Amino acid sequence: MLLKAKNLITGDGETCMEDAALRLDRKGKIEWIGSQTEADMLYPQETVRDYKEATILPGLFDMHVHFGYYYSQPDRENYDDYMIAFYALQQAAYSLQLGITSIRDLSSPHNLLKQLRLAGEKGYVRVPRITHADAGICMTGGHGHEDGIEEADGPWEVRKAIRRQLRGGADWVKILTSNRGDIPEFTQEELDAAVDESHRRGYKTAVHAGTQPSIQMCIDAGFDTIEHGTFMTVEQGRQMARKGIAWVPTITAYTYLYQETKKLIDEGGDTSNPIAARAVRDQAFFEPAYRAYRDNFKKIYDTGVKVLAGSDMVLYGAPPLPIHQELAYMVEYGITPLQAIRTATLNAAEVLGKEKETGSLAPGLEGDILVVEGNAARDIKALDQVIEVFLAGETVFSK
Ligand SMILES: [Zn+2]
Repeated sequence: MLLKAKNLITGDGETCMEDAALRLDRKGKIEWIGSQTEADMLYPQETVRDYKEATILPGLFDMHVHFGYYYSQPDRENYDDYMIAFYALQQAAYSLQLGITSIRDLSSPHNLLKQLRLAGEKGYVRVPRITHADAGICMTGGHGHEDGIEEADGPWEVRKAIRRQLRGGADWVKILTSNRGDIPEFTQEELDAAVDESHRRGYKTAVHAGTQPSIQMCIDAGFDTIEHGTFMTVEQGRQMARKGIAWVPTITAYTYLYQETKKLIDEGGDTSNPIAARAVRDQAFFEPAYRAYRDNFKKIYDTGVKVLAGSDMVLYGAPPLPIHQELAYMVEYGITPLQAIRTATLNAAEVLGKEKETGSLAPGLEGDILVVEGNAARDIKALDQVIEVFLAGETVFSK
């Protein structure tokens, strides 16, 4: 089958071909990419899907999701294991509708993502490609301990928790070491042990670190991805670029929290009720967080640190998996749409070690493809208008 469109973005951050065509083979892999004129000569008999003025680009990656995060649901008590599985399945459905064909889950209830992937392989359900870190690990009483994160203290307990999660089938390790204050949770010794245990076993490890000095401690420990890095300095961006540590800023989640808490304060007035009181307190964190992303994103990007798109949206009532919005913020803060798309395609595949399988459009790779209205190389908002989504060459969503 031949797909044709006015624009084709390969995912390398630079290339947008005009009047392009892409051939999918019978196994759902990309066999050939070229111009429409060449395609007509080479494959005159082929079935053609012509998307006219649209853009063809690689299926997107969301590098920071929590498919099983039901903790913010107002009727949380209804969520037993069955309901959590249905909830996760709904997240998977959303992702495919949005053109997200690969996800990295960085903490969900134990075994949930492993079983969701298996159910997908068995053909019971349709899910994106899944990489997961099982439940994640924090210190006793640390960030996320009320939301199902496994607690461990001291280097050997941390190592043991990692061993347990890898034995259970985790593909990545996730550590959480900062909350909304400046006091780091894990000690340097514990962080070093986490990285050593993961790396010597051949696994990569992500760490939630948003404040100082946690960010520096995690750079020193040598994690593979730093999640949030909200108050990261430009100098730290340079260090990460040198050490090959990638950055998943999650701008949208923090901006949304800033806007929502601001709305509550602006409209509320009475700060004596607990929700408003909390909003006022949280605003002291979210407002500088929002400003830090807005003012520093481009400067840090320019250090050459590898940036990855992750949504991390777990709030009740918020738009699910807002990866399009994440890319839109990156563009608003100074990079090009093609560079932003790379953070959700080739960069992500490289960090996951899947670049020979998916993450860009090139012959030999899987047919994980997103087709959107308009020219996404010029206007990132084009990603909001999804026409069709392919996973391994099969249509999984069409408008
Ligand atoms: Zn998260």
